[in-house]
Amino acid sequence: VELPIHEAVLGHAAEYGDTVALVDGVTGTSMTYTELDAYHRRIAAALTDAGVGKGDVLALHSPNTVAYPAVFYAATRAGASVTTVHPLATPEELATQLRDCSARWIVTVSPLLDAARRSAELVGGIEEIFVCDRAEGHRSILDLARSTAPEPEIAIDPAEDIAALPYSSGTTGVPKGVMLTHRSIATNLAQLEPVMPMGPGDRILAVLPFFHIYGLTALMNAPLRHGATVVVLPRFDLDPFLAAIEKHRINGLYVAPPIVLALAKHPAVARYDLSSLDYILSAAAPLDARLAAACSARLGLPPVRQAYGMTELSPGTHVVPLTAENPPPGAVGKLLPSTEMRVVALDDPEKDLDPGAEGEILMRGPQVMKGYLGRPDATAELIDDAGWVHTGDVGRVDADGWLFVVDRVKELIKYKGFQVAPADLEALLLTHERIADAAVIGVQDEDGNEVPKAYIVRQSGADVLTEEDVMAFVAEHVAPYKKVRRVEFVGGVPRAASGKILRRELRDREVRDREARDRER
Ligand code: ATP
Ligand code: MG
Repeated sequence: VELPIHEAVLGHAAEYGDTVALVDGVTGTSMTYTELDAYHRRIAAALTDAGVGKGDVLALHSPNTVAYPAVFYAATRAGASVTTVHPLATPEELATQLRDCSARWIVTVSPLLDAARRSAELVGGIEEIFVCDRAEGHRSILDLARSTAPEPEIAIDPAEDIAALPYSSGTTGVPKGVMLTHRSIATNLAQLEPVMPMGPGDRILAVLPFFHIYGLTALMNAPLRHGATVVVLPRFDLDPFLAAIEKHRINGLYVAPPIVLALAKHPAVARYDLSSLDYILSAAAPLDARLAAACSARLGLPPVRQAYGMTELSPGTHVVPLTAENPPPGAVGKLLPSTEMRVVALDDPEKDLDPGAEGEILMRGPQVMKGYLGRPDATAELIDDAGWVHTGDVGRVDADGWLFVVDRVKELIKYKGFQVAPADLEALLLTHERIADAAVIGVQDEDGNEVPKAYIVRQSGADVLTEEDVMAFVAEHVAPYKKVRRVEFVGGVPRAASGKILRRELRDREVRDREARDRER
């Protein structure tokens, strides 16, 4: 039988009983599986009582907390679709999302209440704002959880009804609302189960945000489905993150490349006992094999694993199994069961490429989204008539079926007819010991050529690194057409919450700078 997502996950809560499901990594407050199950059912009853109905959209606007999963599953049990929101969204950004998905309910936390109220005023149509903690004038989830209202009996069609409405990261343009059915999410969980085994005794650190589909899946649905203990942190700060691993004896780390970078390079890492770690898995953005190796070598761990996916794919299609002994360095994984893949020529999507050749990755499977909310054109652009999702990512498969992701099609730099992947250059730059972080985009030179420009964050105390040093270092390691031809030193690299470099922001900055220069002339 097919189950709605709250049943697929919490239907097993009784088996795990007094096992701790969730721990607040800051305060130490915790919740057992029995408590989580009862808690989410009570909140579901209270939400129904408050008027939340089938098909309503409820916005969950919160950093990671112990209450987050309970509210999520309560809302889906009440028949609502949950749109997860970046906790640091401005009132305008929040309003844009609320308006786009016609949200009627908001659940937030008191520190974010002003933004939630502001955005509700901007859009109108919000019935009520609840808080997870306490705030004057708003009903609290803590009280809803004491509701005596009868448990709702909402009929859910897992194949059609939308459980989650996350927004894509907005790396390439405006974030789009992604309609994920109960079926697509639950199916993906089942597909991940054999390669991402978790169970009672596993201690998972939820440091990436639950609101992004990677966190929602790997840090919430999967561990809670399997009886693991999830320690939640509200954000990534290096010291509290390392301290939480030590204190809570974390064994499984699901992270994005910037955290791998910190683990590989940051001096603070040496101050903590991280010996409880069994494995690290990274996803959401390109991770270079050298960086991955530096991280696992430093921590004395097996190779850092990778997974690949996108919001529109619920999100996973490839994982390097936690059990794989010697996965090839740099691979993002092998295809999950009942999923199909093609690699096609960049200039001809009808032409399938042989193993080893780089082209656009196409995916098909039961985890494909129902569509973008209210954007039939964008949906048709992504999913062709035969059901293939054109991911916009460039990759290749080796003879054994391992997938390697190169970069996004749209971000390849075209230098005099050659293609240069910015991710390759970023990875190389990070191998330089005086470089703490790097981003690369294509910019126009005086002759109108697109050339690679590097934004470099110097390692602290390494002010001596010059533009010439950076260019010479790259030139030494790559074919001449890939050379970095512009360098700018910056204080930080702009990133999305999921860890991706926001090259779009760097490109916008270039355009503004160029316009300013033109005005001066
Ligand atoms: P938008 O679609 O709004 O521009 P986005 O594509 O960044 O944003 P997500 O759905 O969060 O939004 O990210 C999916 C993308 O992340 C993939 O298409 C791919 O480019 C990248 N990605 C995910 N996992 C990996 C990985 N292991 N290696 C390289 N890239 C990855
Ligand atoms: Mg995308």
